Amino acid sequence: MSAFNGKSVLVLGGSRGIGAAIVRRFVADGARVTFTYAGSEAAALALAAETCSTAVYADSAERDAVIEVVRNSGPLDVLVVNAGIAIFGNALDLDPDAVDRLLRINVHAPYHASVEAARSMPQGGRIIVIGSVNGDRMPVPGMAAYAMSKSALQGMARGLARDFGPREITVNVVQPGPIDTDANPADGPMKDMLHGFMALKRHGRPEDVAAMVAWLAGPEAGFVTGAMHTIDGAFGA
Ligand code: NDP
Repeated sequence: MSAFNGKSVLVLGGSRGIGAAIVRRFVADGARVTFTYAGSEAAALALAAETCSTAVYADSAERDAVIEVVRNSGPLDVLVVNAGIAIFGNALDLDPDAVDRLLRINVHAPYHASVEAARSMPQGGRIIVIGSVNGDRMPVPGMAAYAMSKSALQGMARGLARDFGPREITVNVVQPGPIDTDANPADGPMKDMLHGFMALKRHGRPEDVAAMVAWLAGPEAGFVTGAMHTIDGAFGA
């Protein structure tokens, strides 16, 4: 029997990269998967057709859209909040609207989605948010807003773990280091700089992150909550 047979899973931001690997992993393990997309309709529809999952348009920058898609997909056994963006640049020069949009996608959406999911989540439900090793360590300039957003998820997970613990709902953050996706290609211009910080001098694969998410979502991780789980080739060590 597959690990997630009959389980209902929602992945916010599943059209590409790490999110798509998470969708594929849960489908392979027998779950009924819905995922959201915003900018990549063609990739989303192709993934939905390939995996027999359901793709729904919902911009994570829009609070009401996030709450609505979670409500319409519930009750959920597993919520994974993967959608996230980065902006780079000197803090003195960045457009404040761009910073606020990043915070809506990377912080507000995970919070509101998690709270909405917990309203109808059964005992033993799982909430997993994709943070970043940059929530712990920010070794380069120009990424303060991104680092701030990923650190915020740590406080969120610690607090919501206490709020939902009495119902055995766990809340965890997975913190990747460099992972080979459109956002951070393994052969991109930052590769040598990034690998310079790492014990394993290579990018990880989206499937590596999906495997950690699947473990956290499964029965063996029932006592794991309010915690950060770093998967980074020792980028932050
Ligand atoms: P990609 O840019 O490759 O993919 C991002 C995914 O998030 C896409 O499916 C995208 O969908 C979705 N997304 C982005 N913005 C929105 C939005 N406003 N509404 C709905 N969906 C959205 O990124 P990665 O796969 O690399 O990153 C995924 C997560 O992992 C992010 O939270 C990121 O911060 C984190 N991370 C990534 C690392 C890396 O090295 N790759 C390292 C550490 C953390 P669409 O295109 O349809 O809008």
